[in-house]
This record gives sequence, C-alpha cells and structure tokens, in this order.
Amino acid sequence: MELRIAERWFERRRIDSAITLLWEPHVDPLIRCNIWHLRGRDFDLMIDTGLGIASLAEAARDLLDKPVKAVATHTHYDHIGGHHEFDTCLVHPLEAEALRHAEEANFASLYKTDIPAAIVASIEASGYPLPDVLVTAVPRRGYDLRQYGLRGARGSVSTIDEGDRIDLGDRSFEVLHLPGHSPGSIGLWDRQNRVLFSGDAIYDGPLLDNLPGADKIDYIATLTRLGDLPVEVVHAGHDPSFGRVRLHEIVRKYLDLWQAA
Ligand SMILES: [Zn+2]
Ligand SMILES: [Zn+2]
Repeated sequence: MELRIAERWFERRRIDSAITLLWEPHVDPLIRCNIWHLRGRDFDLMIDTGLGIASLAEAARDLLDKPVKAVATHTHYDHIGGHHEFDTCLVHPLEAEALRHAEEANFASLYKTDIPAAIVASIEASGYPLPDVLVTAVPRRGYDLRQYGLRGARGSVSTIDEGDRIDLGDRSFEVLHLPGHSPGSIGLWDRQNRVLFSGDAIYDGPLLDNLPGADKIDYIATLTRLGDLPVEVVHAGHDPSFGRVRLHEIVRKYLDLWQAA
C-alpha cells in the first residue's frame, strides 16, 4: 500500500504559558500518545515522546531552549519512541530496563499482524478496532514501515518512584506510582495547581487492563486512589484532557464493570 507523505509529522497545541501538547496525527488512535512539553524555570520536561517515527527533538527544537528531561510515564512503545534523542531520561525502576533496552521491545510494530493475535483480540474487545497498518502516512519519501523499531536510551536513565519530587524551580511535581496498566506506570502530580499528568493510568477512552504486564487488581487500587485526588485537570497519555467530574465518571465506570464481573 502506498501511503502519502505527511507534510509534518507532529501537531501541537499550546495549552498555557508552560504546557504544550504534541501528537502524531497520522497514527492510529490506539498508539497516538499525548506528548507533553512542560517549560520550567530551571529545566523542562518532555512527558512521553511518541513512536519515534520522526524526530521529536527536531520537531520541538524551538521549544527546547533549556535542559530537558524526558519522562517515561511507562514504556509501551507509543510513549518512548523518542527517548533515545534526549540526554536525560526518567522512568520508574520497574520499567527502567525496558527503556534502556527499548530495541528489544516485543511487537513494537506498525503492522497489526506483528501483534500477537490474543493481544489484538483483547485490544479490539476493549473498543479499539485496529486497521492492518497503524499509520495513514509516512514521514518522508522512502520511509520503510517494516524498518520501524525502538532504540534504547542513549542518555542517562534515572529512576523515579512514589514520593519522589521533580522540582522545576517554579513548579514542583510529586511522583505517583500508578501500576495497573503497566507495572511501572507513573503520574506526575502538581499539588499546588491540582494538575495531574497521568500517562495511561487514566485517560478518557477505553482503559486497557489486559496487555502483558497489566494487573487488574493494581488497576483498581490505582483508579480508586486517583478518584480521591483533588485534581482540577488531568493531562493524560491519550485523548483530550478532562476535569474532576469526568475523572470520577471514568473511575466509577471501571470499578462498576469490575464489580459486575
Ligand atoms: Zn500504555
Ligand atoms: Zn498509551
């Protein structure tokens, strides 16, 4: 199949003076992650980096005028494709090896047929019908979708865990360990502004609790915990951001589903 060449690979939207959202519009919604650039006084954060199909560092060059730490909310391949472009990476200890050796990731592919059938079935049952090819364009002429793969982090990989603090100078985050979707899923909680960057621990779409490494019991505990957090805004790993009312709806829906099972 001949795919068209994208005019640009990343789209972006300025959320406020500090936060910019970037995303990959030509990618299937299942693996179209939200990439959050956060400007700090002393350094910036890049929260997740997308698939790595095109260079994020290049696309975001105008934003990257000070040191930046690339956070991995977890290491599913749609979130860590660009981490190898950054000198400093932060990840939960349980997924640090997966980030260091991302090139060994299983089924990091743009083809549905490369994903084990049982996983495809579970993803589709959750509400994500998958096309045969997970992109609708290529980033440049001659790009070979078959060559797609992750690269291991080249820079330093430091671990962050529950209770750690990331202080940007003008804004400070607590690290929340939020397992369930994956063992080392983390969120960054800005208590003062009541803003949560949640990764895939919670987002406004069908929650995936059946992937390898996922744990439903952990997921229940994580969502229960998030339901108690006094958040105003959740900037998630996928889908549009949402507020406290929607957060409670998503949590309630998941817990009800589980209780009915
Ligand atoms: Zn994920
Ligand atoms: Zn994801």
